[in-house]
Amino acid sequence: MISVFLLPARLHAPLPGSAFGVFTGSLSAPVLELAPSPLWIAIVAIAGLLFGSFLNVCIARLPHHRSILWPGSHCPHCQAGIRPYDNIPLVSFLLLRGRCRHCHTRISPRYPLVEAATAALFLLATFHFGPGSAALLAAVFSFLLLGLLVMDAECFLLPDTFTLPGIAFGVAQSLLPVSGQAGEGGNSLGSPFSNHAADPAGGLIGCLHLAATTPFPTPAWPAWQGSLLGAAGAASLLLAIRWLYWVVRRQQGMGLGDVKLAALLGAWLGVAGASLALTLAVLLAALCGLILMARPNQPGTDRPALRLPLGSFLSLGGLLTLYCGAPLLTWYFQFWR
Ligand SMILES: [Zn+2]
Repeated sequence: MISVFLLPARLHAPLPGSAFGVFTGSLSAPVLELAPSPLWIAIVAIAGLLFGSFLNVCIARLPHHRSILWPGSHCPHCQAGIRPYDNIPLVSFLLLRGRCRHCHTRISPRYPLVEAATAALFLLATFHFGPGSAALLAAVFSFLLLGLLVMDAECFLLPDTFTLPGIAFGVAQSLLPVSGQAGEGGNSLGSPFSNHAADPAGGLIGCLHLAATTPFPTPAWPAWQGSLLGAAGAASLLLAIRWLYWVVRRQQGMGLGDVKLAALLGAWLGVAGASLALTLAVLLAALCGLILMARPNQPGTDRPALRLPLGSFLSLGGLLTLYCGAPLLTWYFQFWR
């Protein structure tokens, strides 16, 4: 899939400079020059916990078409309202020992886990890209993907309220000038996510520099074109697979939510990034499926039909591509030299 997507219609001459220089630069010394201060780290961590708390509300309500504004937070078991002092991310869960203050019903561990994961992803964005708009965009992207990952895993639903604005935001960010320090010289052109071959930045742009050293030509289109092409290409690919599955099996194997999520990945990551994200998602889902099928069956019972949340794997593929895309592509392309 990667090789198909990395063969664009327009060919591009290899970029000047060592691809590895750019790539290692994004991980070593230059990153420390603008390292976030302790105050920044604290602010980002607290913001991550608060947004994680909000994400929990979205996860609990959006798939069921309930308002995220009304009613206020309440225990799903006894309906008692949750006081502000019982609604502090992570802290309240620990103080209440994971139980409702009123009815003592166990609170789902999903709440503290999502809060901690959001804070961790926000911190990762800050450390990877350095304080700046690139980190802010990475945090938005991570917030959307974490929410979709959990919603699909919990109830096999990917709400339009996350996917559609996510696609629009993904296309919009490809038009923004972005600041950050991932890669040598920062990132002053285009976005850290999209296919911007002229951009000397790290992250996914680093992937493109790596691709320039491989037998595969590098796309030379501007970021917004990469974003639109990525969204349209990824969505079309999933629609085609969905249609083929219908032709062969006469049943729906994939929801339209997965198609919209693929478009979201394409809009944020560009063509090369989206193809890597989709490949990773399929590989992870297949691995997970094999592990589940290898489990011994209960004697005398029929094995239940295996259903995997593809959206969760797509989200995971998107996050892995954002942070590990360059090293993964280096590893992959070494077999082609
Ligand atoms: Zn309760």
